[in-house]
Amino acid sequence: MKIIMLGAPGAGKGTQAKMIAEQYKIPHISTGDIFRANIKEGTELGKEAKTYMDKGLLVPDELTVKILLDRVAKEDCKNGYVLDGFPRTIPQAEVLDKALTELGDKIDYAINVDVPDENIINRMSGRRACLSCGATYHIEHIPPKKEGVCDTCGSELVLRDDDKPETVKNRLNVYHEQTQPLIDFYTAKNVLKTVDGTVDMKDVFAAITEILDK
Ligand code: ADP
Ligand code: ADP
Ligand code: ZN
Repeated sequence: MKIIMLGAPGAGKGTQAKMIAEQYKIPHISTGDIFRANIKEGTELGKEAKTYMDKGLLVPDELTVKILLDRVAKEDCKNGYVLDGFPRTIPQAEVLDKALTELGDKIDYAINVDVPDENIINRMSGRRACLSCGATYHIEHIPPKKEGVCDTCGSELVLRDDDKPETVKNRLNVYHEQTQPLIDFYTAKNVLKTVDGTVDMKDVFAAITEILDK
């Protein structure tokens, strides 16, 4: 099963993608996590990506597409995957579509996690991220068991640089301009499913499994 998560920054794509990955035993692939891991390790890719990410801009398609295609070519992806944060532009979607078509394959579901802009600033300012294992929490809605510490791996939780309100506004503009058109792209392919992302994370997940289990 090949799944794409769509939605604004902070809509809960990562939270849901992790649950999907666990339940359906497919890898969770987050381009944002890959970039952050590279920043942490100080690679050339990380250095380049950071200049865009810090401004709330997208990393150029050429760079992002290469990383994603390398990742999905790995052995663990042969039974499917859940993509979180890719594609984010029409050209990215077209490259993925072409690569899959060449393999006689396709995306099965594009799940649009729908959350209005008004809720997003709160989601982002309360988000705390583990840069070691990629887990995310929310100080009010989804708190870790121990404040500031990742439940999964015990690392320190941080407020991401790009989750500060000024950058979030840019990211929302970028989302509306460059990513939202993907809703029409996947509607035209008959794979778009929209779920209400404003409800409790368990209820969002229930709506998603209902779609995937049909
Ligand atoms: P969020 O989950 O909050 O939307 P991500 O972790 O997906 O954030 O992305 C963080 C940043 O990484 C983005 O603002 C962008 O700069 C970069 N990024 C991640 N995925 C992509 C992509 N597919 N194309 C371009 N840039 C990306
Ligand atoms: P995205 O990957 O789309 O950027 P995340 O999954 O990281 O979004 O979620 C953004 C923030 O909102 C995180 O702090 C997360 O813990 C929180 N969150 C996720 N889902 C919900 C939900 N259904 N209700 C309230 N908060 C949520
Ligand atoms: Zn962790």
